[in-house]
Amino acid sequence: MKISEMLSKGKVTLTYEVFPPRKGDTYEAVAEKARQIALLAPPFMSVTYGAGGGTSDYSVSLASDIKSRLGVESLAHLTCVSTTRSRMAELLRSLGEHGVENILALRGDIPPEGRSVFDYPYAADLVRDIKAQGDFCVGGACYPEGHPDTGSKAEDIRHLKEKVDAGCEFLITQMFFDNSIFYNFLYRLREAGIDVPVLAGIMPVTNARQVKRITQLSGNFLPEKFKAVVDRFGSDPEAMRQAGVAYATGQIIDLIANGVDHIHVFTMNRPDVAAGIHDSLSALLK
Ligand code: FAD
Repeated sequence: MKISEMLSKGKVTLTYEVFPPRKGDTYEAVAEKARQIALLAPPFMSVTYGAGGGTSDYSVSLASDIKSRLGVESLAHLTCVSTTRSRMAELLRSLGEHGVENILALRGDIPPEGRSVFDYPYAADLVRDIKAQGDFCVGGACYPEGHPDTGSKAEDIRHLKEKVDAGCEFLITQMFFDNSIFYNFLYRLREAGIDVPVLAGIMPVTNARQVKRITQLSGNFLPEKFKAVVDRFGSDPEAMRQAGVAYATGQIIDLIANGVDHIHVFTMNRPDVAAGIHDSLSALLK
């Protein structure tokens, strides 16, 4: 089923992102984690795509297996970076053959050698190409705190409108830890005439190391109450896991209470974390 159709049913959806094997992981180990997350019966699961290209075959295999073996709808991420037009056509053909109907079209992060090598300069260019190649439902990424490459949030939203006009049928946000930033962003999107469904991206932070990476990569604003959790529990792995799941669950409850129906959880391939959130929300999801 297409994600655009799922999101139009007026129901709350809680969905999960997984990533393909990285150095040192086997495909089987990651597929097993995906299987455990699939047991939560989410409306769909997404599979990230390595911007360096190294995991592209695994990304396609995992997205295909989620759909055909685990019986859960799948959202395959694809990136402009490191992917030529002909390679993109191959990947789309393979996904289509496995019944994957949903693609998250992304630019990917620009590598140090520069951008001139790309067939698709921006995600909007990839959205147009995917739409031209088959009957896919295409989504895109968005950034409540602004994308680091763009100086102004207004300019970022203008580019986002171009991406939606190119054919994006839904958007998934970058992680955020303060819901008021997301509510403010939604207001600005609607003001700009962007009216596709927006899935709130939630990252359960379950170890203190993640916090450093998150602030380096995305420059997220960290509210005092979040910092207090990390300061108090960061050195105790089990306490931090529980506190991280509880913090993410609290964010999700606040979102649902305020009418945000679609939540996408970045699981970091942790079935225990996905299950912890899911089990605390089971009555809210009915
Ligand atoms: P774009 O929409 O192309 O935007 C990139 C920047 O270019 C923005 O600053 C935008 O304002 C600007 N821009 C857009 N159009 C124009 C224009 N015409 N002229 C000038 N500037 C313009 N990365 C991966 O490698 N693999 C993944 O699987 C992955 N999954 C992700 C999932 C989510 C939910 C999110 C939020 C991000 C994900 N990323 C992933 C990261 C993403 O690839 C990076 O953040 C990347 O830097 C931007 O990608 P984009 O698709 O948002 O790019």
